[in-house]
Amino acid sequence: MPFLPMTTKRLFVFALALHSVVMTPLAAQKTPWFERALVGIETGPTGAQFGSDMADLGYVARFNGRECIEKAAAAHCDYMVIWARDGVYTYYDSKLQPKAPGLGERDVLRETVEEAKKHQMPVIAYCVLQYPTHTLHEHPDWRMRDKEGNPIERICFNSPYIGYVKGLLHEMMTYGIDGFHLDMVDQGFGPPYGCWCDHCQTKFKEQHGHEMPRAMRWDADWEKIMEFRYDSSAAFETELERYIKETWPGTSVDFNYHGNPPFSFEVGQRPVQHGVTGDFITGETGQWAFSALGVGFNAAFYRATAKDRRVQVVMQRGVRHYHDQTTRPLNDMRWETMTLLAHGAFGTMVDKTAYDGWLDPVFYERLGKVFGEAHAKREYFGQPVHADVGIYFSHRTRDWLGRENAANAWQGALGAHKAFVYSHIPWGVVLDENAGLERLRTFPVILLPNVGVLLDTEVAALTKYVEAGGNLIITGATGLYDRLGNARETSALEPLIGGRWIRTLDSLDNHVQFASSDVPFSTDIVVDWPFLVQGKAVVYEATTAKAFGKLLPPHRTVLQREGKEGTRFPMSADTANPVGPAVLTNTIGKGRVFTFACSPGEAATSEFHITEARQLLPQAVRYLHSQPEITVEAPAFVESVVTREGNTLRVHFIARIEPSAATPITGRPAVLPTMMEDIPMFRVHLNFQSTPRSAKAFSDKTVINLDDKQVTALIEDVHEVLVFNFE
Ligand SMILES: [Zn+2]
Repeated sequence: MPFLPMTTKRLFVFALALHSVVMTPLAAQKTPWFERALVGIETGPTGAQFGSDMADLGYVARFNGRECIEKAAAAHCDYMVIWARDGVYTYYDSKLQPKAPGLGERDVLRETVEEAKKHQMPVIAYCVLQYPTHTLHEHPDWRMRDKEGNPIERICFNSPYIGYVKGLLHEMMTYGIDGFHLDMVDQGFGPPYGCWCDHCQTKFKEQHGHEMPRAMRWDADWEKIMEFRYDSSAAFETELERYIKETWPGTSVDFNYHGNPPFSFEVGQRPVQHGVTGDFITGETGQWAFSALGVGFNAAFYRATAKDRRVQVVMQRGVRHYHDQTTRPLNDMRWETMTLLAHGAFGTMVDKTAYDGWLDPVFYERLGKVFGEAHAKREYFGQPVHADVGIYFSHRTRDWLGRENAANAWQGALGAHKAFVYSHIPWGVVLDENAGLERLRTFPVILLPNVGVLLDTEVAALTKYVEAGGNLIITGATGLYDRLGNARETSALEPLIGGRWIRTLDSLDNHVQFASSDVPFSTDIVVDWPFLVQGKAVVYEATTAKAFGKLLPPHRTVLQREGKEGTRFPMSADTANPVGPAVLTNTIGKGRVFTFACSPGEAATSEFHITEARQLLPQAVRYLHSQPEITVEAPAFVESVVTREGNTLRVHFIARIEPSAATPITGRPAVLPTMMEDIPMFRVHLNFQSTPRSAKAFSDKTVINLDDKQVTALIEDVHEVLVFNFE
């Protein structure tokens, strides 16, 4: 849904006239539409983002709200998000911003609302917030400014723009819509950073009593700027939400969210602070931006921002990009949709019309099949997700340790997620902003995957969690940096680890080795074999902990030691010179702490990932939590999601089998994502602590066997859900 900045060849100047309309509040529905929504569509035109000209009369000439609703209803969509305003045009009769000239006398928003009434389908108006090309042209003083005062082609959220947006919302509300989708409230996706405009300078000085700092020094002064940026975005969202709720009670509002990876401080959003604005969170997925694993990860990340709050995740029909006018294979769309629904999100498919507004019939035929399946399985979706391990995500580490290379700071979390998905360890996400004791206690195990920055409050909560019986896994360089991202002299977790931090290795090609008599794990591990765990590694000296295995630095040639040759490719392990233990285990109160000197999460996403490195994480979880309620064995190409509702456990299996990729034109060796085309067949095994009273599969094609506490099933589909009842 990001509406990309566009080049505008010619813009007509329209008089700005905020007109107020007296509205009758919508009859309050018993259940808001978003509480019962399962799947829906967002429809908007393609063309304006490639530059616009008022003489472009072919653009959206056929974009018709009635047809959009007819097609959406036939494809089992629960709701319609229709484009009402983009950066250049409106698609309704507006007095504030020019209507797309190709529409002539027509009004897409009116057509949409009228037709939707026949189908009792909620209509949500899509409204661009950031990158409003036309508005920036009319109001250049609302633009962001960089620290030198140069204008940036983005809106400043502290400018009077919010009043203009309210005027637009008034116009749209006259049509009797059900809600607003407001896209986006980012402050850019990279340099130049803002904002040092006059509006911001005045506001900052009122708050702090001094001028805005300009140097990006990652110090206490810069922290004020960071907080000011976060708060500017949040205040903009909160004020619009307040205004909408007061003016039109019962009308929904949601904002396109950017608190998750791969976004970072530059967008001005934090995972929780900006995840709790609006009626529900809306985020995006799609493997070109977030990877195939990002589909489930994003849904869980969004759900972690607040308890019992609905989450909308947006997909696209295109192979590569929203506007690329391609259509994905049926099974690729099934895989993505079922993954989102299994994780408890509701799914929105974005359809970008052709230049003239034509709707692709093949896409709608496929969408009907995908969404028909979703509705047939409706009762199986939306229950709380069962998790054995919480993956801790620290935005403070992202921002203050990652700084302008934030991916370095979250690779450990993404790799841990990959390891748990492949191994079918039920997982969840824990966000530092709301990681209180109550939240931590919902997980038997918490993983700190290279969480470099841990504040005193976080350490205190984690300590209480362990003392009361919780289990902690610590990897790599966790807890070694202060709140501003500078190296500490000791580990913040020294008492929990039961070991002293001695030093951090300057190499990434680090190895570990275990002997058969020297393995802490309860499950199999390859012994007497040094193996690569690509990523940061730390030398510890045990104090109260037990030490296991060896941490081995890499060999270095003479020229490498002299700095004359690089070390990008891993070198073999220097087995003669171990520098410390591979693992420390410690007991604190009723809980246990398992510390890896290496970084198996980072390793899992590195160029040099090996299976054994990744498997260290699930093995540690099973060591600490050895009698889980349910264990799942299934191929690594299958994702499993366990949900719990009273005495009922549901286990979803979503398979993704990608055909092999060809060599790309550029960017070798990174290959282009491929689409899923086939229907896979796979066998799963489940083990329970107690015997299920009944076991059934959704599909009558699935062969399922229940033998006391063990279940096997042979599944042939993209998605299957097995249901177990316990009394
Ligand atoms: Zn500003």
